[in-house]
Amino acid sequence: MKLKKTLGLFMIFLSGMAIAQTNSNIPQVEELLSKMTLEEKIGQLNLLTPGGGVATGSVVSEDVEAKIKAGNVGGVFGVSSPEKVRQAQEIAVKSSRLGIPLLIGSDIIHGYKTTYPIPLGLSSSWDMDLMKEAAQLAAKEATADGINWNFSPMVDIARDPRWGRIAEGAGEDPYLGSQVAKAMVEGYQGEDLTAPNTMIATVKHMALYGAAEAGRDYNSVDMSHLKMFNEYLPPYQAAVDAGVASVMTSFNDIDGIPASGNKWLLTDLLRDRWGFGGFVVSDYTSVNEMIAHGMGDLQAVSAMAINAGLDMDMVGEGFLTTLKKSVDEGKVSEEQITKAARRILEAKHKLGLLDDPYLYSDESRPEKDILTKENRDFARKAATRSFVLLKKHNNTLPLAKNAKIALVGPLANNKNNMLGTWAPTGDPSLSIPILQGLKNVAPDANINYAKGANISNDTTFAKKVNVFGPRIQINDESPETLLKEALDLAENSDVIVAVVGEATEMSGEAASRTDITIPDSQKKLIRELAHTGKPVVLVLMSGRPLDISEEMALPVSILQIWHPGVEAGNAVADVLFGDFNPSAKLTNSWPRNVGQIPIHYRMKTTGRPGPESGEFQKFKTNYLDSPNSPLLPFGFGLSYTTFEYSDVKANSSELGKTGAIELSATVTNTGDHDGEEIVQLYIHDKVRSITPPGKELKGFKKIMLKKGESKTVTFQLNAEDLKFYNSELKHVAEPGEFDFFIAGSSDSKFDGSFTLKE
Ligand code: BGC
Repeated sequence: MKLKKTLGLFMIFLSGMAIAQTNSNIPQVEELLSKMTLEEKIGQLNLLTPGGGVATGSVVSEDVEAKIKAGNVGGVFGVSSPEKVRQAQEIAVKSSRLGIPLLIGSDIIHGYKTTYPIPLGLSSSWDMDLMKEAAQLAAKEATADGINWNFSPMVDIARDPRWGRIAEGAGEDPYLGSQVAKAMVEGYQGEDLTAPNTMIATVKHMALYGAAEAGRDYNSVDMSHLKMFNEYLPPYQAAVDAGVASVMTSFNDIDGIPASGNKWLLTDLLRDRWGFGGFVVSDYTSVNEMIAHGMGDLQAVSAMAINAGLDMDMVGEGFLTTLKKSVDEGKVSEEQITKAARRILEAKHKLGLLDDPYLYSDESRPEKDILTKENRDFARKAATRSFVLLKKHNNTLPLAKNAKIALVGPLANNKNNMLGTWAPTGDPSLSIPILQGLKNVAPDANINYAKGANISNDTTFAKKVNVFGPRIQINDESPETLLKEALDLAENSDVIVAVVGEATEMSGEAASRTDITIPDSQKKLIRELAHTGKPVVLVLMSGRPLDISEEMALPVSILQIWHPGVEAGNAVADVLFGDFNPSAKLTNSWPRNVGQIPIHYRMKTTGRPGPESGEFQKFKTNYLDSPNSPLLPFGFGLSYTTFEYSDVKANSSELGKTGAIELSATVTNTGDHDGEEIVQLYIHDKVRSITPPGKELKGFKKIMLKKGESKTVTFQLNAEDLKFYNSELKHVAEPGEFDFFIAGSSDSKFDGSFTLKE
């Protein structure tokens, strides 16, 4: 009898443990779940977009209101303003049986209405405080407009500038990418997700989306697990470690299984290995797209997705229309659906929506929080921090504020191309064109403008680029007439500033290019301007690394400005006139030609390293027709001043399994301007159980140095920092010798070495 009782208690204890493992321990969530029908649970997994705003995919949802009332919708996106969000929440709360509020999503990729530079530009600041603040301010604006869930940060490592979405990420490096992921998640989500000015972040696109074959968007990815773990997965994991509350899958397949139905990815790796506790949303119709991938019909792919660990189905409605049938047929367990519904409800709980559905519907906020002077000032500052000085010629820069300037180029007086690729929430008409900015900052300058060339003369190409509005406008005048106007203007000026490059939709989603040079129409203009003999500054706009081999060889200065956002013109003027000394550095290697792609600084040496001189050598790894090195290396960027590195050293020749080693360098501002320098630390693991990268970034610091000033910059490394994934995918640091250097770019020679002891 006694034994029976003890056993009984033990069973209760065990079943309690099981509940503790699957339940959220949030009474509100469990109570709701206990009342929900299977259909209502499936409803929570359905994410719709009613259209009306800018569609970010090729389908929009129908009958959204009726579906919300029926309890068939867990969240919507593309709905904004406190009034509209309140209306949507009212429908959910008052007209659906259980009154569960909605997640309100949006893509706030580089600012909300106050548009910042594209993410690739922002990453070039290497300034994590700035990036965090950018995310914080974007969250403040977006939540003021009713949005509580952001589809950002996009942290896909990208090493192929043909891929247009390279614009949305932080470049090629896993270490830098991880820092950016963390900063942005912390910025959006803040310390308290129930605060009305913070929102759920979504790390995307899990995973490897940036490695699309041939740089063609949505293409297949095939990659070794070693490469994934060491090069491509770290930024997603960094976001998870920073507490990101949701993850978005990618369109591509991984090991032959599309990400949205990949159990290894979504459960074994993401949840079991990394400990992710939030919810996973598909990308736009990516569940349905598994049909075209060859995974079966809608019912089959939907079952595959939910069984893999996907919780929410974006737009495709495969979950809504087939999951019940799959449960009836025993293909999906009700428990699996309950788990997914629980995760969506937990997210609503985290946001405070279960207590107050109207938390994000405060009508007084937009005026106080959106497009404020403070936010615009920040956008201007952020833009100046993203501009990379690629080439200096004859001290043309900075310009005198009373100069006679010929401002030319199709992007020089153009509001439609300032915001960048992922700015559906921004308004191009609010952006400051370069012409306006130069006049604002230097009212005494004599500035005259001529277009000089079309962005492209190709009408078929222009039509493809102009899907969201007139980005490429081809003038009625002939290209010859446009060119002559610019050359006449140039003749009568002290200096030529030519704003050239890509229109915004020449990069971004579904905007891959096989030719990444500046379009011919503009190349011709640039050549002719350079031949005038006048000082020329190319202000280069693009959403990707370009092949500018020809332009680098011309006698011109080049300032890369990406797509700078709403304050474009003012920020460009701040830098051109020297009010801010450019300090950004590239976060991607810029190739000499498309043939070098994929190219990045972490490439392995191979067993037949190319000669250091760059000279061609038979039977070595090199090309007959191009050097191996990029045109511009990762980490590169100039300043109006110059910096010198000296006294690079380690404080010890050995590092133990515990403790740290200090690696330091003295950096001196040797030029004529105060300026910021991004000091970078790279290592090379000389002997490893798997072939190591040629070099790896392990630290960076941004410092301000006055003219003539020197500072010592110190990095601390410990054994943990030297870890990599070995062939068993274990994260290990292996004893042995490491070379290191500290420099202003990845393109430098090793300064010294140290040993990691047994
Ligand atoms: C993109 C995602 C985006 C989603 C919703 C998709 O086409 O790949 O990055 O978040 O649309 O707009």
